[in-house]
Amino acid sequence: MEMELNSNNESSDEEIQEVNMNYTNFDMEKFMKNPEFEVGMKFGSKCLFREAIRNYSILTGRPVFMYTNDKSRLRAKCVAPCPWFVYASKVPALNNSDFVLKTLNDVHNHCSHAWKNKHMSTSWLANRYEDQIKSNMYMPAKQIRQVVDEQYKCEISRSMAYKARTKARKNIKGSVAEQYAFVWEYAAELQRTHPNTTIDIQYNPRNDPDERPTFTRFYCCLGPLKNGFNEGCRPIIALDGCHTKGAYPGQLLTAIGPDPNNGWWPIAWAVVEKEAREQWHWFLSLLIKDLQIATASSHYTFISDQQKGLDSALLELLPYCEHRFCVQHMYRNFKKKHPGQILKDRLWSIATATTVELYEAELDDLKEYDQLAYAWVKRAPPPQHWCPANSTRCSQNNNKSKRSSSGCIY
Ligand SMILES: [Zn+2]
Repeated sequence: MEMELNSNNESSDEEIQEVNMNYTNFDMEKFMKNPEFEVGMKFGSKCLFREAIRNYSILTGRPVFMYTNDKSRLRAKCVAPCPWFVYASKVPALNNSDFVLKTLNDVHNHCSHAWKNKHMSTSWLANRYEDQIKSNMYMPAKQIRQVVDEQYKCEISRSMAYKARTKARKNIKGSVAEQYAFVWEYAAELQRTHPNTTIDIQYNPRNDPDERPTFTRFYCCLGPLKNGFNEGCRPIIALDGCHTKGAYPGQLLTAIGPDPNNGWWPIAWAVVEKEAREQWHWFLSLLIKDLQIATASSHYTFISDQQKGLDSALLELLPYCEHRFCVQHMYRNFKKKHPGQILKDRLWSIATATTVELYEAELDDLKEYDQLAYAWVKRAPPPQHWCPANSTRCSQNNNKSKRSSSGCIY
């Protein structure tokens, strides 16, 4: 069925007005969900119309190609003998760059699916899969080819998948780098909106005046969180670190504490280049200052998953504070070689023993039951880090919910 919009280059003012009323602004987002052309669609430029044709071909799998392509006209058709075609051109009376879809024959016949679609370019792929590649910068070419095949029933070569990934990575790195340039503005905004906020930004100094400094670390302790912790939370701080993915991988360090409802209260966080003693030392120094932790006091208890470098940083900065290891984390390693409910219960019995006698008795029980599991426990970090019986401080064996949420025994 062929449809045509009546357009006359020498239209009167009234006719222009009438034609204007029939126009619908083209919306690419809607079109991507439902790729259908309509007579009267108005494209902001010829480029946008070309892009729409390209997307139409990829999304529908039709072997469409463009011809009659000049400054004011663009026509696209399907391979012969298929009768589908679309035509858009400028409306002189509008006197702008808009292209209006004037003729459309929206019927496909005798054309087969385009398994190798020439509209599927590396730029199109890089743009389409940017989010996926952002979360996995080394997404294999094989996976990209498979996803394209599943989504669009289209075959792309291995080198094309590689080129698309390289292009996407370049785009991502560019946009992330632009965002890093705003790190100072971000810090200023946080300090403006959250009074008493501490921000510390570290960077590698520039080697010459034209070079920009390179970001290395960012520490943030929001004022309201700092005040809330100091006023209403117990002096227990859990420290953790995890990898950050993306164009500039690093580590995220966090400090949280149990609030009066036994929920978790965020205290501070930092992005650092890697997790090591130096980075933990820097993070803890700022945290000590923010929470006004007296370094000569044994008032605070720190909990960790035995992160790299954390123990020695804590020992140096806060030698009198307790440093406990998360037993849940220890158990995850334990069960890899010693699985089973019985062994799990025995490890927890050791970890929750409140006196040295009980601790020794539980350890003897384990030795009798499983020599290898016993050897693992003996090789584990010293019990004063994870068992209250061996603690230098009076410890409180918390309720089960605390144990299961943090896996730590205070
Ligand atoms: Zn066709």
